[in-house]
Amino acid sequence: MTDLLSKFDPLIEERETLLATGVKDPFSLVMEEVLSPTVAICNGRETILLGTYNYMGMTFDDDVRQAGLKALEDFGSGTTGSRVLNGTYSPHKDCEEALKEFYAMDHAMVFSTGYQANLGIISTLAGKGDYVILDIDSHASIYDGCAMGNAEIVAFRHNDAEALEKRLKRLPAEAGKLVVLEGVYSMLGDVAPLKEMIRICKENGAMTLVDEAHSMGFIGENGRGVVEDQGVIDDVDFIIGTFSKSVGTVGGFCVSNHPKFEIMRLVCRPYVFTASLPPSVMATASTSIRKLMHSGNKRAHLWENSKKLHKGLRDLGFELGTPEAQSAIIAVIMPNLEKGAMMWQALLEEGLYVNLARPPATPANMTLLRCSLCAEHTSEQVDQILGMFEAAGKAVGAI
Ligand code: PMP
Repeated sequence: MTDLLSKFDPLIEERETLLATGVKDPFSLVMEEVLSPTVAICNGRETILLGTYNYMGMTFDDDVRQAGLKALEDFGSGTTGSRVLNGTYSPHKDCEEALKEFYAMDHAMVFSTGYQANLGIISTLAGKGDYVILDIDSHASIYDGCAMGNAEIVAFRHNDAEALEKRLKRLPAEAGKLVVLEGVYSMLGDVAPLKEMIRICKENGAMTLVDEAHSMGFIGENGRGVVEDQGVIDDVDFIIGTFSKSVGTVGGFCVSNHPKFEIMRLVCRPYVFTASLPPSVMATASTSIRKLMHSGNKRAHLWENSKKLHKGLRDLGFELGTPEAQSAIIAVIMPNLEKGAMMWQALLEEGLYVNLARPPATPANMTLLRCSLCAEHTSEQVDQILGMFEAAGKAVGAI
C-alpha cells in the first residue's frame, strides 16, 4: 500500500525541526477567553490581538449580539438545508437586502463562507475554454475556483497593470474572459491599481470580479472597498466579500448589477449543494453591515491606528510590506522562517498576538509577521504594541 500521506513528509520534518528549537507551534494557538475585539487570554496571559481581521471590531457590538440572540430564539440553531430547498429563512433574505443597500447594487447572493463565494462564482462563470486572468498573488480560493471550473488560468505579475494588458491582448478576441482582482492583498496589505486595471479590462472585452475581503467596511467613503475609493464601483461586474473580517461573523457573498445574475442561484454548485448559514449568523451579519454603512468615525480612527503603527514600526527599523500604510494590514518582513517564529513567540510572551505567515501563502517565499489593526484598538494600545515590538525585536536580534 502506498501511504498517501507520505507526500507531506518534508513538511512534517520541517515542522519537527522548528518545534525542536523550542518555539511554540504558531499554528495552534488557543484563545482561552475573548474579552473584547482587541484582547483575549492566551496561555493564561492577557494578550492584545493584532492578527484577527476583525477590522471594525463588530464581534462584540451590542446590537449585533442582540440580533443574533433574538434570531437564535426565533428561528432555532440552524436551517439543516440548502438555500434552494428548506434553507432560505427571512434572515437570509434580509441579509441579502442589507448587502444590496450597502453596495447600492441590484443583486446579492450569500454563501456559507467567502472561500465558497470565490469557489462558486468563479467556477460557475468561467468553464472549459474560458480564461481567468488573475494576479499571481491571488487568494487560494480564487485559484481553487479556477481549478474547479476548469478554465485556463493566465497569471500576471502582482499589481502590474501593464502585464495584465499584455496578457489580455494575447488572448483570442472571442474567448470568454474573467479578470479576477483583489482590492487589498492580504499578505502585504497593499492596494491594487484598480482604476487603471478595470479600464484595461473594459478595453479588452473582459468581465471583472474584485474580491474586497480585506477592504469592505473600511476603505472607501462608505466602506464599499477599493472599488469605491478609486471610483470604479459601477464599472466592475462582480464584487466578492466575506463576513469573516469587518462584518465580524462568518459567511461570504457576491453582489452584482448584472441583469442575469439571479440564475447563479440554480447553477452554482457551492451555493446549491451545501447547507445555508444559521439564521443567527445572518441576523448578526445584516445588523453589522447596516451599522458599517454609518461608521465613518470608526474608519477614520482605524486609519489613524494603521498610520501610527506603520510609522512606529518603520522608525524602529523593521522592514515593512508597503512604503506607507495602505490598508489595515501592516506586514513585517522577517529574514527567514526560524527568525519569524522566534519573533512571533517573543511577541506572544510580551502579550501580543500577530499572524505568522509563510510560504506558500506568502509571495516571493517571504516569512511575514502580519499585523491587522482594529478600529477598537486605542491609541494607547498601539503605543503598547510598538513597545512590545521593540522589546521582542531586540531580544531576538531582529532590529
Ligand atoms: N478572499 C480573500 C482575499 C481572503 O483573504 C479570504 C480569507 N482570508 C477569503 C476570500 C475567504 O474568506 P472566508 O474566511 O469567508 O472563507
